[in-house]
Amino acid sequence: MEENKATEANEPGSTPEKHDPEQNDSQAKAPYRKGYYYNRRRKYFNKTHQPRQEKISFKKLSVVVPLFNEEESLTLLANEIKKALRPVEISYEVIFVDDGSTDGSLKIIKEMCRQDKRFLYVSFRKNYGKSAALQIGFRQVTGDVVVTMDADLQDDPNEIPNLLKKLDEGFDLVSGWKKKRYDPFIKRQSSKFFNFVTRLMSGIKIHDFNCGLKAYRREVIDNIKVYGELHRYMPVLADWEGFTVAEIPVTHHARRYGKTKFGISRFFKGFIDLITVIFSTRYIKRPMHFFGFLGALSFLIGLILNAVLTYYWITGHSLSNRPMLFLGMLLIIVGIQLFSVGLLGEMLVRGSVDEKEYIIKDKG
Ligand code: UDP
Ligand code: MG
Repeated sequence: MEENKATEANEPGSTPEKHDPEQNDSQAKAPYRKGYYYNRRRKYFNKTHQPRQEKISFKKLSVVVPLFNEEESLTLLANEIKKALRPVEISYEVIFVDDGSTDGSLKIIKEMCRQDKRFLYVSFRKNYGKSAALQIGFRQVTGDVVVTMDADLQDDPNEIPNLLKKLDEGFDLVSGWKKKRYDPFIKRQSSKFFNFVTRLMSGIKIHDFNCGLKAYRREVIDNIKVYGELHRYMPVLADWEGFTVAEIPVTHHARRYGKTKFGISRFFKGFIDLITVIFSTRYIKRPMHFFGFLGALSFLIGLILNAVLTYYWITGHSLSNRPMLFLGMLLIIVGIQLFSVGLLGEMLVRGSVDEKEYIIKDKG
C-alpha cells in the first residue's frame, strides 16, 4: 500500500502541485482548464488501476455469514465479498448459515453455492438464533483465520482485509467498531449504554462489543462456545480464555432491505446475558468466591446487628418495636443459604473439572 502511494506521487501528472506550481495556481482560479480535468482523470486512473495486493501471513480465510430471512441482500453480498477479497492474497471459503429462514434465502444460497465452489452453506430446520448459527458455522470452517459478518449489507466486506491486517499484527480477535453508525436513534443510544456497562464490567477497553464484523484466529473459535445470545460477548469470552482482543473502526451502512431481527428486548436480554457471562467467565470454576463472599458478608452484617440488639435486651430495653431485629435475622438466614449454594457449587466443580478446558499455547 505504502509503495503504491509512493509510485502514485512520483508519476508525472498525478500530482500537479509537485510538477507545475504555476499551473496549480491557475487551476485554483479556473478549474475548467484542460489541465485540471486531465490531472483529475489521471489521478483517478492511478488510484483505481494500481495493482493492489495485500500481503497477509494467513493461509486460508473462512467467512461465516449467519442469516435469517435476508433474501434481497444475498446476491449483492456475495458479489461484494468476492470483489473485496480479489486483491487479498489468500484462498477463502464463505459459509452461509441459514438460521431457519422462511423466505427464499435458502434457495438463493443453494444456487450461489452451486455456481461457486468457494461458497458453502448449512441450513437449520428452524430459527435457533444468531449465536447458534455462528457456532455451527464455526464448526464447519477449514481456514486458519475466520471472519464473521452480517448478511444484511450493513457490514462492509471491504473491511475484511483491514481486519486481517490488524489480526496479523499479533492479535487473536479483532472486532469492528461501527464508529459512524447508521441505525435508529434509540438503538444507537441503548447500544452506547450497553457497551459502556459491558466495558466497565468486563474491563475490556473496546467501544463496540456487538459488531457483526469480527476476525478471529482459528484457535479462538475452536476454544470458545457461543450459545443462547452470547454472540454479543465474543470479545469477553475470548479475553477470558487469554486471547488478545483489538478493535478497528469499520464502515457501517443503513439496513437496505428487510428489518432488524432484534427488537428492544435485546437490551434487557443483553444485560441478563452480561451477568451470565461475567459469572461464567470469572466464577464458574470458583463459585465459593462469589456465593461464599456474599453469604459471609450478609451473615456478618446480620450477626453484628443482632449482637447489638442482644446487648440492648440484656441492658433492659425492649425489642418489641425494633424492626432491625427482623433485618438481622433475614441477613443471617440469607447469608447461610448463599454460603451453602457456594459449597454445593464447589462440589459440582470438583466433579466436573476437565483438563481439556485449559488451552495450551505452546509446548517444548
Ligand atoms: N440473524 C440470524 N438469526 C436470527 C437473527 C438474526 O442469523 O435469529 C442474522 C441476520 O440475518 C443478520 C445478522 O444476524 O445477518 C444480524 O441481524 P440484524 O441485522 O437483524 O441485527 P442488527 O443489525 O439489527 O443488530
Ligand atoms: Mg443488521
